[in-house]
Amino acid sequence: MTRNFRSELVGSFSEGSNGNPTVAMIEAAFAHHNLDWRYINCEVTPANLADAVKGARAMGWRGFNCSIPHKVAVIEHLDGLGESAEIMGAVNCAVNRDGKFIGENTDGKGFLKSLMEVVDPRGKSVVMFGAGGAARAIGVELALAGARALTVVNRSALRGEPLVRLLNERTTTPATLVQWPREFAIPEGTDIVVNATSIGLANGNQPLDIDAATLKPGMVVADVIVDPPDTRFLRDARTRGCTVIDGLGMLINQGVIGVKYWTGIDADPAVMRKKLEEIFSA
Ligand code: NDP
Repeated sequence: MTRNFRSELVGSFSEGSNGNPTVAMIEAAFAHHNLDWRYINCEVTPANLADAVKGARAMGWRGFNCSIPHKVAVIEHLDGLGESAEIMGAVNCAVNRDGKFIGENTDGKGFLKSLMEVVDPRGKSVVMFGAGGAARAIGVELALAGARALTVVNRSALRGEPLVRLLNERTTTPATLVQWPREFAIPEGTDIVVNATSIGLANGNQPLDIDAATLKPGMVVADVIVDPPDTRFLRDARTRGCTVIDGLGMLINQGVIGVKYWTGIDADPAVMRKKLEEIFSA
């Protein structure tokens, strides 16, 4: 077999990435699939973002991820947007399609892919905690996937209201906002419950302010937190007989989707999970 020695580049534009576990995860996939590709993390300040995208174009990068604070600002430097990225107004993954950089949002798609391994959200009733960037990405994908109804529970109306308005105006899934009361009771008939807040980040014992007795067997309960992946919320849900999905699934699958966009290859998620578990258990 002739080996193709042509190397390709993809990368990530971030600020203060703190080691960026995505680098290790994507490079593990490239190595596993014998791809002579590199994924490099570049620290880019907001003032240098335009030049960074120009640089990626000049060097023929196959694409790049971008993280906070670049997810919205990058849009004006791209040539087009995928459907969900256009609705969300946020891009975390650019893909070089015939020389044009097209912006996609793989955060929500990654969440959806890991959810679909357990349940199809079509026709399902969803309660989602949070209204920040992760919640916006997840909410839009769940709505585009045909969720029956979405209740957004958020501490502040400041972020909750625009998200619910966006879902009601741009998708066919009815969304309502609940401003988070003490010990929120998950309504009966809820099929899927998602923590898309940062509660639990760096403290796996931090509880969500909910009445845990309203978590019922049969519910699918997902968390976006990856560090640590086994959160108090998921432990409570598991104890009460719910099927749980940790945040690693979302992170891995956004990587799987990115690799597919850039290389055309279906990366092995097990290889990527193994790498992340090494990092997060270290
Ligand atoms: P944002 O800062 O945009 O949003 C944070 C959200 O959490 C807001 O809704 C905020 O409410 C809520 N929140 C934070 N602290 C509290 C609290 N003490 N009580 C109640 N609500 C609270 O963050 P992101 O949406 O970008 O990220 C959220 C989490 O998702 C992070 O932990 C991030 O690491 C994780 N993430 C995971 C991914 C994965 O692949 N697994 C991908 C992307 C993100 P309010 O609006 O009232 O401030």
